Amino acid sequence: MFINGEWVESNSGRIRNIINPYNQEVIATVTEGDENDAKAAISAARKAFNQSDWPTIPAIERGKVVHKIADLIERDREELAELESLDTGKTVEESRGDMDDIAGVFRYYAEMVDKEGGEIINSPIPNSTSKIVREPVGVCAQITPWNYPLLQASWKLAPALAAGNTLVMKPSEITPLTSIKVFELMEEAGVPGGVVSLVLGPGNSVGAELASNDDVDLISFTGGLETGKKIMQAASSNMKKLALELGGKNPNVVFADTDFETAVDQAMNAVFFHAGQVCSAGTRLIVEESIHDQFVDALVDRVKNIRLGNGFNESTQMGPLISESHLNKVIHYVEKGKQEGVSVAVGGGRPDDPELQDGFFYLPTVLTNCTTDMRVVQDEGFGPVITVEKFTTEEQAIWLANDSIYGLSGGVFTNDIAKAERCVAKMRMGTVWINDVNLYFPQAPWGGYKQSGIGRELGKTGLEEYQETKHIYRNLKPEPLNWFK
Ligand code: NAD
Repeated sequence: MFINGEWVESNSGRIRNIINPYNQEVIATVTEGDENDAKAAISAARKAFNQSDWPTIPAIERGKVVHKIADLIERDREELAELESLDTGKTVEESRGDMDDIAGVFRYYAEMVDKEGGEIINSPIPNSTSKIVREPVGVCAQITPWNYPLLQASWKLAPALAAGNTLVMKPSEITPLTSIKVFELMEEAGVPGGVVSLVLGPGNSVGAELASNDDVDLISFTGGLETGKKIMQAASSNMKKLALELGGKNPNVVFADTDFETAVDQAMNAVFFHAGQVCSAGTRLIVEESIHDQFVDALVDRVKNIRLGNGFNESTQMGPLISESHLNKVIHYVEKGKQEGVSVAVGGGRPDDPELQDGFFYLPTVLTNCTTDMRVVQDEGFGPVITVEKFTTEEQAIWLANDSIYGLSGGVFTNDIAKAERCVAKMRMGTVWINDVNLYFPQAPWGGYKQSGIGRELGKTGLEEYQETKHIYRNLKPEPLNWFK
């Protein structure tokens, strides 16, 4: 762990083995922190915020350091990508793409921070000036999940640092490796000691301390809905600012007038990329009745050919799930669907291939005869499983798309652009794609409506999450008010 500018072991001396989900081999042993380590890191961040010049140096100077972090990520791209794939099972090709996106996020905020000034407003009071300035929030706690370990970390680290905060990060206890490496890179880039700390360990000790500690000014969390609720409750102890990026159960609406082959291909990408362990995965496929059967047949033909395997083999298209407990969750979720009356068009279990038996693999699965009241349609399974529903009218399609407690993302496939615009105007989600899926980039805000979260990462709003807004009023002609004469 990296606390107060030093690499340290946990107070308790506890350790954790990190497992490769492809074959269950131990790939690393890391120290395992607890509440006391989290407290030490928070104290260091508080001291750095109050006493170091990081929050107050010209933004352009912080931008240079953040640029340097991007340079180092680009330099070590291959090592980082391999670590990420060892830790998560995703293909190395995908991890390389992640690393490019991550460097891009650091560059985006490095560039933005010195262009972002405050503003002068027209004061309604004679002989006065009124200006708005943005300041860092203070000590930020950041908790990340296992599905995109370093990508999710970068969406938090880059804007928090650029805005002049100090921070403590806790990665998922099962995927800490690239976070450890990036803290080394931040040290090398010249981030001053104490400004950034990394505490490893479980959510119910380290994470809970970060959420409840009164010396933390902001908590930014990416993960599941139930954990998000706990964090929101804990954060109320001192009314710390809250940014929550939670789950999704995302619709992908396909109209009959779409480009058929493209829509089939994209529907697969929407849900089988990274074995469906993507918050914005388009797991609810909603298809116009007139092409439903043909669409399912085409999908099933393609899904049968998805190549499962080791993410380090170039031919692999889909890796394993992250852990045994997550695999069991996905199995349970599909079994529940079977009890509810769905038909398994393809998949629906573990692969027979002897080479895949040591990994946490689940077959890419298409479930048909699904209706919106089923748990399998409503719950976030977070695996390579797609449910297919039918619609006949545009209104019904929109109603089905919105019938979820979540509102993270959604897709619409049609060649009728007016229809697409009518649909997206009514879809209650933070991101909606027309004729595409799963796209994100640093310039566009990311986050959820409804129970998919609070606040936005990325884009200008991603920086604003890490800033307080201050109004400074100056009286140019001070004189007694004489109210209390
Ligand atoms: P999770 O909620 O189980 O864990 C996320 C993090 O929270 C981990 O670091 C964990 O240790 C920590 N944690 C657990 N209990 C805690 C507690 N009581 N207090 C504080 N921290 C605690 O989620 P996960 O299984 O790691 O990730 C998958 C979830 O993340 C999915 O629901 C997915 O949709 C969501 N996700 C959302 C986005 C987004 O942008 N909206 C992106 C990626 C993942």
